[in-house]
Amino acid sequence: MRLFCIKRNMALAGPTRLLSLAVRLLLEPRRNIVLRGSDQSLPVVRIPRALQRRQEQRRSDRGSFQRPVLVQPGPLLVSAKRPELNQPARLTLGRWERAPLASRGWKHRRSRQDHFSIERVQQEAPALRNLSSRGNFVDLGLEPRVLLALQKAVPEVVQPTSVQSKTIPPLLRGRHILCAAETGSGKTLSYLLPLFQRLLKGPELDSRSSTAPRGLVLVPSRELAEQVQAVAQSLGRYLGLQVIALGGGLGMNRLKLQLGKWPSADVLVATPGALWKALKRQLISLHHLNFIVLDEVDTLLDESFVELVDYILGKSPIAESPAELEDPFNPKAQLVMVGATFPEGLNQLLSKVTSPDSLTTITSSKLHCIMPHVRQTFMRLKGTEKVTELIQILKQHDKANKAEPSGTVLVFCNSASTVNWLGYILDDHKIQHLRLQGQMPASMRAGIFQSFQKGSQNILVCTDIASRGLDSIHVEVVVNYDFPPTLQDYIHRAGRVGRVGSEVPGTVISFVTHPWDVSLVQKIELAARRRRSLPGLTSSARDPLPQQD
Ligand code: ADP
Ligand code: MG
Repeated sequence: MRLFCIKRNMALAGPTRLLSLAVRLLLEPRRNIVLRGSDQSLPVVRIPRALQRRQEQRRSDRGSFQRPVLVQPGPLLVSAKRPELNQPARLTLGRWERAPLASRGWKHRRSRQDHFSIERVQQEAPALRNLSSRGNFVDLGLEPRVLLALQKAVPEVVQPTSVQSKTIPPLLRGRHILCAAETGSGKTLSYLLPLFQRLLKGPELDSRSSTAPRGLVLVPSRELAEQVQAVAQSLGRYLGLQVIALGGGLGMNRLKLQLGKWPSADVLVATPGALWKALKRQLISLHHLNFIVLDEVDTLLDESFVELVDYILGKSPIAESPAELEDPFNPKAQLVMVGATFPEGLNQLLSKVTSPDSLTTITSSKLHCIMPHVRQTFMRLKGTEKVTELIQILKQHDKANKAEPSGTVLVFCNSASTVNWLGYILDDHKIQHLRLQGQMPASMRAGIFQSFQKGSQNILVCTDIASRGLDSIHVEVVVNYDFPPTLQDYIHRAGRVGRVGSEVPGTVISFVTHPWDVSLVQKIELAARRRRSLPGLTSSARDPLPQQD
C-alpha cells in the first residue's frame, strides 16, 4: 500500500519536485514524512511508530545525562558485567516474573566480551547440609563388621551424607533402587556398603566358580571402573572380599589374563564393552549375581551403551520380588541404578528386566539444580579468542598456585581432536598438562586420570569421558573450553568441583561462542535466578513409582 502511494506521488510530481522530495527523504530520514501530491486527500506514508519511538529514545539517550545505576548492597546471586543486571542473593525471581537476563542478546556478535557469574551463596555442598542431624551409619542398619571396614578404609567418612541416609535402609530391605542425586554426593558408598553386607550373608561360591562373580558394578568408562574398584577393594580388604576391574580396550588375551589373575573375585567392576566381550566368549558367567549396579545410569542408557547394557541385563538373574533375594541356595540379584540425572528410556528397560513395583525411587531435593556452592562464570567470546583467554586463566592459576598451593584445573573440550590441538598449543606455551580422550590407545589412557588425581600434573585437558563419576576432590577450576552440548553434560562437568570432601572451593568457567551455546546458557541463567531445577531434564521416572517403601 505504501509502495503504491509513493509510486503514485512520483507519477504526479514533476522532476524538480521529485528532486526536492529525494533531498527531503535523505536529509530528514527520522521525521515523519508526508508525501503530498496535488491530491491532498491521498493517504499519508508514515515511518512505523515503533521505529519512531526507538529513534526518539536513542536521541534522548544521547542528549540526556547517564542515569546512575543503583547497585544493590549485600551478597549477589548473579553478578554481571553490566551491574544493573546483578541479582542480590536475597532475591528469588518468581516463576512467571520476567527475568532480566545478562545473557539476553548474546546471540548477537556485538555481545562479545560480555560476561556474568552465578555466585557461590553457600560454602558447603548441599549433600553435607544438616549432616549432624542425620544420625550415623549405625542407625542406618549396617553391621559392626561393615562399619569397622568403613572406618579403616575411609577414616574421613564419619557421618552419612543425605543421599546415603536415604539409600542404605531400603537397599538393606532388599528393594531395587533408582537413586538420582547431584554429583559428588557420596553415591558410591551408598550402594557399596549395603551390598557388601548382603554378600557377607549370602552363600559363598567354591573357587571353581571363579568366573562367576557375586556382585557386578557397571560403569561407563575404564577410569571410573578403576576408581570404583579402588574404593570397593579398600573396603573389601577388611571384609575378605576380592574386587577386580575390567576396562575396555583390552584384547582377548589381555582379557583372559586379567580374569585369570584373580580366580576367585567376588565383585567385578566393568565397562559394558569389556563385559560384553567376556560374556560372548563365555569367559564369565552372571548366573550367581547377588547384585548388579548401574553407576552413571543415564550415560549407560544412552545410545552408545544401551544395546550392550540390554544384553548384560538379559544375562543377569534379576529378582522379581524381595523374596527371591532371600533364597538361601540360589539368591537372585538386587538391581541398583544411580546417576546424577534421570535417564531417558528407563521405564522401557525396567519393564524388560523386572516389575516397576519392585523399584524404589530416591531423588535428592537439589537434583538438576545449579550448585549453590560453586561459582559459575560464563564468558561470551569469539571462537578465536578462546585460546588466549584459556592461557591467561591457566597462567594466573599457576601464579596463584605458586604463591599458595591450591587445586588443579580440568579443561573440557567437545572432541578428541580439540584435546590434541589444544595440547600442542599449551606445549608451545610451555604449560605442562595431561591429556585424556577416548581415541587414545588403552595403554596410553591407563592411569592418566589416576596420576592427575595424585597431583602429578595440575592441568588435565580432556573430553567428556572424564566428566562422568570421576572423583576429583583436588579440582579447583573446571574450564568448559567448548561449551557442553547438553544441559546433562553441563551438570556432569560442573560436578567435578565442589564435591563432598573437596579441599578447595570450586569454580566453573564456560566459554560461550555459538548461538546454540547461548540457548543453553540462558536456560542455566534463568534457572539460577529462579532457583529452580534446569528445564528439560526429567525429574522423576515417567510412570508413578512408589516413593520409599
Ligand atoms: P558421587 O558418586 O555421588 O558423584 P562419590 O561417591 O564419588 O560421589 O563421592 C564423592 C566424594 O565424597 C568421595 O571423595 C568420597 O570419599 C566422599 N564421601 C562420600 N561419603 C562421604 C561422607 N559421608 N562424608 C564425607 N565424605 C564422603
Ligand atoms: Mg559416582
